[in-house]
Amino acid sequence: MKTIRASSIDRILKCPPSSIEPAVKIESADDGSAALGDAVHEASACMVMGDAPDIDAIAMHHEVGASEVDRLYRKAQEQWMEISTRFPADVPVVVEQSESVVLQDGAVTMTRHADVLAEENGYRFVVDWKTKRREDYGEHEQQMNAYVYPQGFAFVAWLQHGQVEFYRKTEDQLQAWRIELVDKVINPDRYPYKPDENTCRFCPRRHECPALQQMQRAGVNAMVQVKEGSIVRAEDIVQAFKQKKMIQKVIATFEGALKLQAAAGPIVGDEDMIVLKTVVKKPIDARKAWPIVAEHLSEDEFAPAVTLAKGKLVDAVRAKTAGKKIDAERAFLADLKAVDAFGHKPQYQLELKRRDDL
Ligand code: SF4
Repeated sequence: MKTIRASSIDRILKCPPSSIEPAVKIESADDGSAALGDAVHEASACMVMGDAPDIDAIAMHHEVGASEVDRLYRKAQEQWMEISTRFPADVPVVVEQSESVVLQDGAVTMTRHADVLAEENGYRFVVDWKTKRREDYGEHEQQMNAYVYPQGFAFVAWLQHGQVEFYRKTEDQLQAWRIELVDKVINPDRYPYKPDENTCRFCPRRHECPALQQMQRAGVNAMVQVKEGSIVRAEDIVQAFKQKKMIQKVIATFEGALKLQAAAGPIVGDEDMIVLKTVVKKPIDARKAWPIVAEHLSEDEFAPAVTLAKGKLVDAVRAKTAGKKIDAERAFLADLKAVDAFGHKPQYQLELKRRDDL
């Protein structure tokens, strides 16, 4: 008998071999976000059941900041006011305290833990509070399928962002979904491994996954060969250059596999270790920034700070043109040329050519 939780369904559908039990179970380190989520869920559960939560006591119990719990709880209050109007009237609302069985199909049992649940005429109405939206997380639609099974309506409430995603699922849709899911859980070996940063990140097999190990092995092999080859003769250099693209691809794959492994914890060698570092880029929103930039900088001061991408500008011109796009593009480029807008910036690249061209 295999038991799968609603939260792992997206991963299992994308990479069925991930449903195979790992030989060794390793608990992931908690980055603190789970405790905050638990606290907000507890406060929201009180609210849904008509009680006033004691935010300070809840925050203390979960060892998180009371102000952050309070802020997210208030968002949950606002969202519940709106969502509850779409729940059936005069039907009791339940807050599930633990995992409950949604369906049993042969050797597969599926469980869910809904934050708010109501049922009317065979339809399920569900709310799922999510404290923090991370774009790298998997689709939540699959999880909602399990929550509303065999049919119903789901609201995913993103508390940090104030957004609510809505799903309506019919019985036909969910029966087809169940058949596909159960087949993938029962026959994982019939399906290929699909390594992907978002999917593998939370996979219980990531420590021992043969697909990830293969990717790492290929990367290590490629690099060791390069290191061992004595690149002295010009011909060796040409041959190495010919393999450059392939090696770059293998290294990229190797790096991808390492990132997946390091996401679960440092890769510790004899003296050094590899850790996953988060680098957050903060691109400036051109529309919002423009009035501020214009207030602070003259055109001459502003120009060195920006780079206009010709290709993207041409794409924009073509996109807004209803008629002949090529004519609009030519006219745009001609106008730029007329005002001498194109600079001249040589770049140097290596190129492979036939010797006869010498
Ligand atoms: S680690 Fe990734 S590729 Fe391997 S089984 Fe899990 S999800 Fe699939």
